[in-house]
Amino acid sequence: MDAIMSLCKRRGFIFQASDIYGGINGFWDYGPLGAQLKKNLREAWWQDMIMNPCWGRKGPNGRRVECVPVETRIIQHPKVWEASGHVGGFNDPMVDCKETKGRYRYDHVMVFVPESGDAGDKPVFAYVGDQPSESKQKKKAEKTFGAVKSVALSSIPQPWTRVIAPEAEKPGTLTEPRMFNLMFDTIPGAIKDEANRAYLRPETAQGVFLQFKNVVDSSRVKIPFGIGNTGTSFRNEVTPRNYTFRSREFEQAELEFFCHPDESFKWYEFWRDFRMDWWKSIGLAGENLILREHAKDELSHYSVGTSDVEYRFPFTFPEFGELEGIAHRGNYDLTQHQKHSGAKLEYFDQERGELLPNGSKRGERYLPHCIEPAAGLDRGALAILCEAYTKDESRPSPEIMKFHPRIAPIKAAVFPLVNKDGMPEIAEKLYDAVRARFAKVGFVEFDEKQSIGKRYARMDEGGCPFCFTVDGQTATDQTVTVRDRDTGAQSRMAMDQVVKFLEDKLGV
Ligand code: ATP
Repeated sequence: MDAIMSLCKRRGFIFQASDIYGGINGFWDYGPLGAQLKKNLREAWWQDMIMNPCWGRKGPNGRRVECVPVETRIIQHPKVWEASGHVGGFNDPMVDCKETKGRYRYDHVMVFVPESGDAGDKPVFAYVGDQPSESKQKKKAEKTFGAVKSVALSSIPQPWTRVIAPEAEKPGTLTEPRMFNLMFDTIPGAIKDEANRAYLRPETAQGVFLQFKNVVDSSRVKIPFGIGNTGTSFRNEVTPRNYTFRSREFEQAELEFFCHPDESFKWYEFWRDFRMDWWKSIGLAGENLILREHAKDELSHYSVGTSDVEYRFPFTFPEFGELEGIAHRGNYDLTQHQKHSGAKLEYFDQERGELLPNGSKRGERYLPHCIEPAAGLDRGALAILCEAYTKDESRPSPEIMKFHPRIAPIKAAVFPLVNKDGMPEIAEKLYDAVRARFAKVGFVEFDEKQSIGKRYARMDEGGCPFCFTVDGQTATDQTVTVRDRDTGAQSRMAMDQVVKFLEDKLGV
């Protein structure tokens, strides 16, 4: 992970937010390559979920899947979050350290104890995984006890008088767990009155439920159909960690797919399978990607099924971390908003109900059930970065980012082999043509500096799938070399075939 993070900073994928001020915990920015990578990921989601859902696959009803987008706001009426359950229930238990003022998520705190389990009256050492505290505390614990093992803080009886908190010196400074609401709040408007307190959304999904009726009334959608939304969400995570994986500000891409209750389970299975295929299609195709069906006791009370698409990140290894949750939400959200707002959110389905003598159907009024594939774009981008990172010591520059061509931020590069004999002029012409065609999907680079080997190496690190080089032969036979990032192999092709070649490879 350290190597990936260092490449991400060096090549401008990910930077700490407010880096020149020392950073701010839980917030990350994207540099030029990272911003385009994320845009490509968002666009791929938008295309394959909204504009041409499921690549034109037919749903379980035998018809093409229909979806429309909305763009809803980060701040909504505060009652939204009471109705959704976030004001009352979106809490994590946390413990505070009275000595360092550190705050930790209770279920993330582990403790090093002697391997035998019996510490006598000696203190034991708490830490949070993947934080600097882990190795520091381990060293201290091993000095005190020799061999150690780690147990969850929750397995140690309270009060924790002998527990030394992660960054603390003295034992007994951890408070008992208290619930902590994960929503950021703010007061819009000039009057700082408690009654005006609003929240920054912790998920984009609620915006869809709020506009469900307006969408039905203003467009020609008919059940079953989906409404998708991408955008920034905020969660005041107690212990942001693992790079961008658990941040306090992140981007989600969520679809709410509304269907008749009788058909909801089939749609749930359909979306679960498609989402797995989708992540595979953009390059996460290996044993690092799994679909995990939740056990019955993990499900929310209203859900009849939830699955997570999970990726094995270097920092979760050998375990997996969630990229996306696909949940059957029943009609919970529409029921709640109907109750709390007083608005009627039922759908009138003209294609259901008994057949009338005039040949039409009587119709049926109901609250649709909802299947929600909820993906995280920052976690998706991070999984793509981890999967792409490849080390090949046999290559002159051993670090290669093997992005899927659709997601790669740099799509192609054009080089003159040397800066003479008319090569730069020909290369610039080719560059203009390629850029004119592909700039809408990513960077097209022109590079004439340094040795050709160094230029290839730079492109490998940036994950550029194809480099085209104009050389001495070009002027005579109008061919260039194309070099493949993944194999390093080079072949010749006619210069006027380059755009067509890229169209095929990039799928645009
Ligand atoms: P976790 O259990 O890891 O906190 P969650 O189950 O609460 O995640 P959901 O509410 O299902 O997450 O949100 C949907 C998606 O949003 C997640 O699969 C993830 O990709 C993304 N996401 C949620 N919280 C964060 C976060 N703090 N940082 C980055 N992405 C997040």
